[in-house]
Amino acid sequence: MDVSLQLGKIMGIPVRLHWSFLVVVLYVAWAFSSVSEPILGRAYGFGAVEPVTIRWAYSFLFAILLFVCVAVHELGHSYIAKSYGIGIKSITLYFFGGVASMEEIPRDPRKELKMALVGPLVSGALGFFSILLYLAVSSNPLHPIPILLWTLGVINIILMIFNLIPAFPMDGGRVLRAWFATRMPYVSATRRAANVGKMFAVFLGILGLFSFNFIMLFIAFFIYIGASEEEKATTIDISLEGIKVKNIMSVNVKTITPDLTLRQLMELMFQEKHRGYPVLENGSLKGIVTITDLQRVPDSQKDTTNVGQVMTRNLFVIGPDEEASIAMKIMSEKGIHRLPVLQNEELVGIVSREDLVRAIELCSSRSSF
Ligand SMILES: [Zn+2]
Repeated sequence: MDVSLQLGKIMGIPVRLHWSFLVVVLYVAWAFSSVSEPILGRAYGFGAVEPVTIRWAYSFLFAILLFVCVAVHELGHSYIAKSYGIGIKSITLYFFGGVASMEEIPRDPRKELKMALVGPLVSGALGFFSILLYLAVSSNPLHPIPILLWTLGVINIILMIFNLIPAFPMDGGRVLRAWFATRMPYVSATRRAANVGKMFAVFLGILGLFSFNFIMLFIAFFIYIGASEEEKATTIDISLEGIKVKNIMSVNVKTITPDLTLRQLMELMFQEKHRGYPVLENGSLKGIVTITDLQRVPDSQKDTTNVGQVMTRNLFVIGPDEEASIAMKIMSEKGIHRLPVLQNEELVGIVSREDLVRAIELCSSRSSF
């Protein structure tokens, strides 16, 4: 479910709340309303605050402030990114924290290093500031306000340390990659940083398993997936760098007309072993028909139904001079298998997933030594 609510814009960046976030605010409020174990001898958590209504009010306020801090952390990343001219599409707060969606991550290790480091630095600064405020008002350390400031301070310091763990998708993983990237090609640096992340995740997973700590197990899983995804995405992006759609598309595309019956289409697919065709009428592209469209119609109606009735009409298309990585992005975001290539309204080719996979396989050898 991808439902998020836009809160507003900061520095021109839309800040959004994902639905899962609301669940976690409740969870964090609940968790901290029952904690009262002191940290460094100072009251931490609101478990000892009386009466219950005040305890809950502060727990909620804390949960909301915590996520404001997470948003400020993301804004820190975004601020540096913007100064390098990188577009930020949005910042979304999910249950596990914030995600800034950027147009691209810079391949310059020094820029990436700065961009990654600023997040933990912001968290550290927020923690430090909060603790300073605590010290200023701590004459009555059992009042809820000092407890709030101390708890927020400690959590932000923990967030700083957690984010510095050298594992993707933590900021520390990016710091590590940037450091490797000053010594080796970018793909190798990513692979190495991803391996460190995976090793860390396995270690954390084993630890979580033996201590029955399911939150730790969950984090381990999250880190492992994050590391693998980052490695895959970077390899693909770099492999396809400089490759245009026209270099990888299939030309001499076999097309059909909308008046063909589904029975005829089925026979054609059997003969030619194709799983989909662009549909042309008077030379212009009207739609695409695939084996899935064919399967939706019962066999008894295949003689009376024609291609024009079942084809997909809302098409995503691409130009031959666009980057192959853009084609990849469109196809994976929209979940489509074939992308028609149009030049001056005329069909000049088609990019299939197989074309992309082949291109990635061929090209990854040139950068992954
Ligand atoms: Zn961060």
